[in-house]
Amino acid sequence: MPGFELFGDKERKEVQDVMDSGVLMRYGFDAMRNGHWKTKELESGLAEKMQSKYAHVVSSGTAALTVALASAGVGAGDEVIMPTFTFVASFESILALGAVPVLVDIDDTLTLKPEAVEKAITPRTKVVMPVHMCGSMANLDALKAICDKHGLLLLEDACQAIGGTYNGKPLGSIGDLGCFSFDYVKTITCGEGGAVITNNENYYENAHKYSDHGHDHVGNNRGAEEHPFLGYNFRISEMNAAVGLAQLARLDEFIAIQKRNYTILREALSNIPEVVFRTVPDGGEENYSFLNFFMPTEELAQVAHQELIEAGVDGCFYWYDNNWHYYKKWEHLTEMKSLGKPPKDIIESLPDYKKADFSESDKWMSRNISCLIKLGWSEKEVAERAKKMVTAIKSSI
Ligand SMILES: *Cc1c(COP(=O)(O)O)cnc(C)c1O
Repeated sequence: MPGFELFGDKERKEVQDVMDSGVLMRYGFDAMRNGHWKTKELESGLAEKMQSKYAHVVSSGTAALTVALASAGVGAGDEVIMPTFTFVASFESILALGAVPVLVDIDDTLTLKPEAVEKAITPRTKVVMPVHMCGSMANLDALKAICDKHGLLLLEDACQAIGGTYNGKPLGSIGDLGCFSFDYVKTITCGEGGAVITNNENYYENAHKYSDHGHDHVGNNRGAEEHPFLGYNFRISEMNAAVGLAQLARLDEFIAIQKRNYTILREALSNIPEVVFRTVPDGGEENYSFLNFFMPTEELAQVAHQELIEAGVDGCFYWYDNNWHYYKKWEHLTEMKSLGKPPKDIIESLPDYKKADFSESDKWMSRNISCLIKLGWSEKEVAERAKKMVTAIKSSI
């Protein structure tokens, strides 16, 4: 997955442009910048690539989620439905706005289970936030139908699935809003960065203003701009955007490499009857950033994971035990350990997750192994890796 593996002349050239003008800020300094607007170019390139009317680039994927929610008017006490398997950024962005993260089970897609989403809806629910984990997507048709029926917004977290598609449309472009991360380990990277995409002009207008202190971005004198509402600073720098601009141009190349490497590994593993691959919803195509599979039991998954490590196969994760990606290790959320006093709406409304029953999620996660697909592997290296993986998994059964 990490685009940094293939950094080269294209990234260097874009960064050099920025250094040559010395303008590291995305707004203003028109006379100094030699016509270089790296962030704006990244935004128009991304909007086109993602078949969306608008793209707004910010400082991180977490910032993108926060800005997306804020731009749609999510605030104190609103409930946002999110999965038990994701990155901590999902609930961080919700809590940052005083809204309430409502955790919901996943299914064998490793993403939100539509039936569980529908059960979790209350009069305070405002957004359903599927997270397209490890390169593949939620059942977006089912989720969209639920959102339409109940008047909710659909916000896709496509941070780990850029380049994947659903019914031929880019992931991120199907919901009312979509978010990407360009942090250092993502498929395309800015070092740090993220983006919001949408077809909704109002959300876009809110997003660019909110992420820059509420500046209205009218005219070319920043100091004289109006501030129609309260904002914050989630700006990206031109240096980071320059790297992302080069990487975006290489997205198709990266996805093709991932697909080749993924396919070699998947074909090798499909000869093991005990291995069952993660379900990809009808009409979906992964971005091939991870190969995910289930073992028949929790015990076998743990043994197989250990065997893979011992065989020197790096980059295979057993997320069930992971500090960052699964609710079981989110004590800081379930016990609300915050530095200062959290907003009243959160204290009053956060469900008691210590008592929650996520056995449906546990059933899938405890059997799942997730292997990162790298860009830098040669075909020979992938073939060797496939052999090692098959031997390790077979010896665990
Ligand atoms: C990486 C990631 C984020 C957050 O991105 P940052 O750029 O690291 O803030 C959000 N959601 C998911 C699923 C991610 O993988």
